[in-house]
Amino acid sequence: MLTKTVIALALLGLAVAKVDYSGYRVFRAYPTLKQFETIKTMQEKYDLDFWSDLRYEGDFVDFMVRPTFRSLVEETMNFFKIKYETFVEDVEIAAQAQFTPGQEWNIATDDAFYDQYHTLDEINQWISVFATTNSQVASQLVIGTSYEGRSIRALKIGNGGQSFVINCGIHSREWVSPATCMLTAKWLAESTDSEIVNLRNQLTFYIIPSANPDGYLYTWSTDRMWRKTRKPITNLCTGVDPNRNYDANWSGEGASNKACSDSYYGPSAFSEAETQAQRDLVQSLGNVKAYIDIHAYSQMWMYPYGYTYSACADAASLDQIAKNSVAAIRSVHGKVYQAGSISGVIYVASGSSADYFYDHQNVKCSFAAELRDTGLYGFTLPDRQIRPTAEETVEGLKVIANAIVDGQCG
Ligand code: ZN
Repeated sequence: MLTKTVIALALLGLAVAKVDYSGYRVFRAYPTLKQFETIKTMQEKYDLDFWSDLRYEGDFVDFMVRPTFRSLVEETMNFFKIKYETFVEDVEIAAQAQFTPGQEWNIATDDAFYDQYHTLDEINQWISVFATTNSQVASQLVIGTSYEGRSIRALKIGNGGQSFVINCGIHSREWVSPATCMLTAKWLAESTDSEIVNLRNQLTFYIIPSANPDGYLYTWSTDRMWRKTRKPITNLCTGVDPNRNYDANWSGEGASNKACSDSYYGPSAFSEAETQAQRDLVQSLGNVKAYIDIHAYSQMWMYPYGYTYSACADAASLDQIAKNSVAAIRSVHGKVYQAGSISGVIYVASGSSADYFYDHQNVKCSFAAELRDTGLYGFTLPDRQIRPTAEETVEGLKVIANAIVDGQCG
């Protein structure tokens, strides 16, 4: 009995205390195939947190090491002659730079509002103000309720008969994603540029700035590096990877059956309120021609399939659209994104939203993107990079929107 109480208190303590990432370091290692096995062994031994996925592609892996194991990990890499470099020197310092002090904003008029990362409360306030300020072309809607009871909000922009769903923040630690969705919404609603006006008239955009509000709140309150939903699974493990939870080869390769894993696929397909909300939105609209799930980081612009190396039926046209998006992105600030299928560009991953909407909801132009950077800051991308990231991303999105208008998305 006493033990149980102590455990319960300890768990409560863990839930309340904020994770301090002081001294945590992110390394990028360039292992050979044999050296890669050493890194995999170190993952369990030294509790490495992989920021890139644990796979061998002949290039690199990014992982975060806690201070207690840092010198052991470095000694091991040196001993086995694994090439590596330090990317994030101290994760807490880099993360602290992203948390900006509470500030009084006039959301309707302060353009600088968009140049910072925001709390969930601020994002929700912004959605309301934005919908009111732009009521001629925009409105807000609630598409579902998160596990902890929060509204999952979307902005509807435009009044065309075909829809484009743009989803941000499903992985909560990828902060540049919601920030990019906010600027994208602003430009789509407010621009008087004839191309955008035309897109607004021909299409309806549904922008979901924070698709996993419980996780996002948790990254601000407790653990900056939280990725999953917040539903308790076992006594010790919380959360499902929402982008492994869709009914697209669910529980297959590239997803974990371990409840504590960051890529845990969940107790069943669509077990999460957050993935159900998106499924139901697209299903109820019935006219969604394009969908994109926006993540960070790695600079990639991808289409189905994720769950298999086989090409999808529309691979040729989706590849062309992706290449056009990547060219448009590059023309803004010179950033190079990779275009290709999810399995081709990253690795085989089952249960993703892009595959589900393509296979099961007839969304031909279904994409997944990874925004900046290529690992130097990773999830701790400084806020000065929000605007340039959004500026290039919106050009990539416009390519997809124009593809719908041109009839390339069915
Ligand atoms: Zn992600």
